[in-house]
Amino acid sequence: MRDLKDYLAEYDGPPLNITAGAHLAGVVDPEDNPWHRLTELAKHCVICVCGAPLPRMQQWTFTLKDNSQVDYTISQCARCGKVYWTQP
Ligand SMILES: [Zn+2]
Repeated sequence: MRDLKDYLAEYDGPPLNITAGAHLAGVVDPEDNPWHRLTELAKHCVICVCGAPLPRMQQWTFTLKDNSQVDYTISQCARCGKVYWTQP
């Protein structure tokens, strides 16, 4: 199985309004945990860099202040709290 470390860039979070609202998508302490954007390749990894299995990525639609909507796919490691995300 491939290691996520092969794919991670340095910290790469979504816009702050998304991180701030991510608790609505079930992310625990979204503003205190590191976010990592996954590349196309890394989407198929299921093991966090800490070694714990990652929950299935889930797609969420965020509605912004101007009523536009953006989709994010998010998974959070239950052990270390790292948040992995992509935009479809
Ligand atoms: Zn982890």
